[in-house]
Amino acid sequence: VAPEPLYRQIETLKRHFTLVSVDEFAQAPSQRGLAAVSFDDGYRCIVEEGLNVFRALNVPISVYVNGATLSGEVFWRDKVRFIQANGLVEAFEEHMRGIQPDGRFYRYTKKPVNNSLHVVAEIDRFLESSGQRVAALDFCLNFPDELIADDLITWGNHSHSHYVMSSLTAEQQYDEINKTAELLASKPGLSLSQLFSIPFGEDKDFNADTVDAARRCGYTGLLLSRGRANLESSVIYGLPAYERLMPREPDTDSGLLASLKYPSTHV
Ligand SMILES: [Zn+2]
Repeated sequence: VAPEPLYRQIETLKRHFTLVSVDEFAQAPSQRGLAAVSFDDGYRCIVEEGLNVFRALNVPISVYVNGATLSGEVFWRDKVRFIQANGLVEAFEEHMRGIQPDGRFYRYTKKPVNNSLHVVAEIDRFLESSGQRVAALDFCLNFPDELIADDLITWGNHSHSHYVMSSLTAEQQYDEINKTAELLASKPGLSLSQLFSIPFGEDKDFNADTVDAARRCGYTGLLLSRGRANLESSVIYGLPAYERLMPREPDTDSGLLASLKYPSTHV
């Protein structure tokens, strides 16, 4: 979303809702009339370009980051895309061990039946044996310099590597959440969110162990990405969980408000 449509989206939201931070939203006695803006994955453009928009409209944002990408590591889904884009799927499938090829390569690599750590180990083994290297993309924020202390920004945990949490053991899930919790806590002055944003964020992507691990790391709520507006509060495995809606269209009328089921005459 370019800055201008972003401005229009947020400005339109402001006409219908009081915009608060995600944590204020979660703590409010009633969420009626409130909305919150969050971003996952820690793209640099949120700060470089988006922040001007949010400053102009005085809207707080919460940014949920992955410790691995903040530290310059290659995002594992980019390795998957690299294999696909270079016509290496067949060669990888002959090479791989212990991965269930149920469906298409892009999809089965993120099915809960295939442990993400194992998938990545197999991809790395394949890439190494075939002499291929995947370059880290340079559009994510770097830690610590680019995680700035700003009145409008709350920083949050989106796990270390953005793996499919439900594919991991309980202890692996704890490590995934704890590493990023410790990383965020290591920089003084940042305002931190008490909610954990679940990678991929759909039902199949987490389980009771995920929620337990988040709780053990001190988190008091969950953010989902099931493509719904948070019309009523829910509790999942004992923690409050909040729905998020990702507008697919920059246009407010057919995109954002339509997804919120506001008639366009309302605008
Ligand atoms: Zn994400």
